[in-house]
Amino acid sequence: MKNIAILCSGGDVSGMNPAIKHFVEYSIQKGLNPYFVYDGYEGLIDNRIKKATYEDVAGIITRGGTKIGSARSKRFMQPEFRKIAKENLDTHNIDMLVVLGGDGSFRGLDAFYKEQGIKFCGIPSTIDNDIHGTDYCLGVDTALNIIKTSIDAIRDTASSFKRALVIETMGRDCGYLALISALTSGAELCLIPERKYNLHDFEENFKTQIKNGRRYFIAVISEGIEQSATEIATWFEEKIGIEARATVLGHVQRGGNPSIYDRLMAYKFISFAIDGLLEGHNDSVACYTKSHFKYKSIFEVTGTPHKLDKELLALLDNMDV
Ligand code: ADP
Repeated sequence: MKNIAILCSGGDVSGMNPAIKHFVEYSIQKGLNPYFVYDGYEGLIDNRIKKATYEDVAGIITRGGTKIGSARSKRFMQPEFRKIAKENLDTHNIDMLVVLGGDGSFRGLDAFYKEQGIKFCGIPSTIDNDIHGTDYCLGVDTALNIIKTSIDAIRDTASSFKRALVIETMGRDCGYLALISALTSGAELCLIPERKYNLHDFEENFKTQIKNGRRYFIAVISEGIEQSATEIATWFEEKIGIEARATVLGHVQRGGNPSIYDRLMAYKFISFAIDGLLEGHNDSVACYTKSHFKYKSIFEVTGTPHKLDKELLALLDNMDV
C-alpha cells in the first residue's frame, strides 16, 4: 500500500478540517495509507508525522482552523532543511503530499519537488481569494459569511444611532472580500486597493442623502487601501457631518464553523487532488475555474500576479450609492 500525507501551510482557513477529514476517508477508500504532518513544513523538518485514522477525524467537520496545525517555516526556504524533510518522509515511505496553503507554500513545494522528487498536489487555501488561476480558494465562503453576519449586526446599531460605520476586511492587496461584502450587504461605500479613489468625489452625494433623510452609512474597506478605517471614519465626521465608528474585523474572518460551500469544496478539492496524484499529476495545483477543476502548474499559479475579475470590478464601478 502506498503512503500519502497532508499538511497545512501558511494562514489557516475554515474548511481545512473538512478537507483533512475527507483526505483520511478518501485515501483509505483509494487503498492508500493516510498520514498527517503537523504544523506545516516545520513538522516535515522535525518529523512530526503520524499515521492517520478514522478516529482522528471524527467530529472535526464542524470546526474552523486545522486539527493538524499550520505554520510558516523559515527553515524550509533552505535546501539543507528540505533534504531533512525528505529523509523524514522516507522513514515513513511517503512519496505523495497534499498541501493546503497559499502561493508561498506552493513555491516551497515546487523547490521540494525539483530537489527531492516528492510528488505533490496543492490546494489553494486562503480567505483572500488572491491566487492566480483559480476562481475559488478554500475558506473564502466561510469568511464572507462571517463578514456578512458582522455587517448585519453593525447595521442594526448604525441605524439606531445615526452613524457611519466603517468596516475593514482582510485581503492583503486583494479587495475581493471587501467588494463582495459591500455588494451583498448594501454598503454605500466600498474602497479596495484595485481602484484609486478620492473621498472628495463622494462628499456632495452623501451630504445630500443625509439632507434627504438617510440615517446611516455602511462603508466596507479592504485592509490593503492606503487609509485606515479610523481615517475613513474621521472623514465621515469632518466632511459629511455624521458621527462615525471604525470596526476592524481582523481574525474573526479566519475562523468559525465551515460553511456548506467550504465543506463541499473541501470534499471536491481533496478528491481531485488525490485522483490527480494517482493518475500521475506529480507537481500540480488543484484549481477551480469556470465551475471546473483543473490541474495547473506551479509556474502558472505563482508566476502571474492575481488580478480581480473584471466583471466584479465593473459591479463596483456601477455600485448604487
Ligand atoms: P502562503 O502559503 O499562505 O502564501 P507564505 O507565503 O508565508 O504563506 O508561505 C508559507 C511557507 O512556504 C513559508 O513559511 C515557507 O516555509 C514556504 N515557502 C514560501 N516560499 C518559498 C520558497 N521560495 N522556497 C521554499 N519555501 C518557501
